[in-house]
Amino acid sequence: MKSLTALLILITVAFNSNAQVYKLPELGYSYQDYAPYIDAKTMEIHHSKHHQAYVNNLNKAIAGTAMETQSLMDLMFYASFRSDVVRNNAGGHFNHTLFWDNLAPVVAQSEISPELSLAITEQFGALDSLKVKLNQAAISRFGSGWAWLMVTPDKKLAISTSANQDNPIMDVSKERGIPILGIDVWEHAYYLSYQNKRADYLTALWSLTNWGSVSAKYAAAIKDSLLIELEKDSWPALKDFHKVMAQTFHPSESGNLQPLRTRSTELLTKSMLLRISIPPKSLDKKELHDALSRLEKACYYINEQVNKNAKDAALTKAIAGAHDIFHEVQGLCHD
Ligand code: MN
Repeated sequence: MKSLTALLILITVAFNSNAQVYKLPELGYSYQDYAPYIDAKTMEIHHSKHHQAYVNNLNKAIAGTAMETQSLMDLMFYASFRSDVVRNNAGGHFNHTLFWDNLAPVVAQSEISPELSLAITEQFGALDSLKVKLNQAAISRFGSGWAWLMVTPDKKLAISTSANQDNPIMDVSKERGIPILGIDVWEHAYYLSYQNKRADYLTALWSLTNWGSVSAKYAAAIKDSLLIELEKDSWPALKDFHKVMAQTFHPSESGNLQPLRTRSTELLTKSMLLRISIPPKSLDKKELHDALSRLEKACYYINEQVNKNAKDAALTKAIAGAHDIFHEVQGLCHD
């Protein structure tokens, strides 16, 4: 009996080997090394209590669900489909990990890269003006939240803010991008030393900002394929079409043509709106427009067949054909 239990445990462990368990990242320095800019007690509570709580709550929320095998990026990217618990704690874990990464005692800091320095000069005039703008953003964020420096899908730098533990990777954010620098403006980040003086905390924080680390994140973000996903996600006509396509095609795969029969006009309308919509600049190519025209024709044909009360087999073939073209469209978005 004992060996059977052991075997069952082994099997369970093997089956869950892809399961994600998040861990609190270690800081590169001890809590007192951030003083006098951030006191040791604030660092300790912020890291070992607040961040640890986000990690624990995230692990608890995803345990035993499909989310266990998804990446942290996926949990955040589709935040609008998640519960508030997952949204807040996935964001909390990611945001704080980024925050710690970019903080270092003065003696341990490395310099800004020529690439990031140039990008900042081109867009903000100088590093000091960027700091002023980020401070203004961080000051004006009402209540708890974050201010961000991010790389947008067109590979530019941009400043934004978000409430709670949201961030620009999430589909709930209006301005999307990959954050490379985050400023935590929750009171738990500064209250012990600075009380209500958020501006003083922000000034002090610049002394701990390791521009070498921000530069590494900039270099990684510029090359990250996530930028393309963010850009596609900001093309509403594509999202709209995708939804109707998924809700009609997937049932058809298992022999249920009813959703397609009731929604073929909607599918056609969405395909027309998609064809006349303006794609994000970097995706705007002739091949893409050709594929969108073929997609519209395929949807027109499907609607015609539905109106003629065509047989299931004919409709299954027609929607599979349209789905293939849609994949082509999505593929063209990746080039
Ligand atoms: Mn915090």
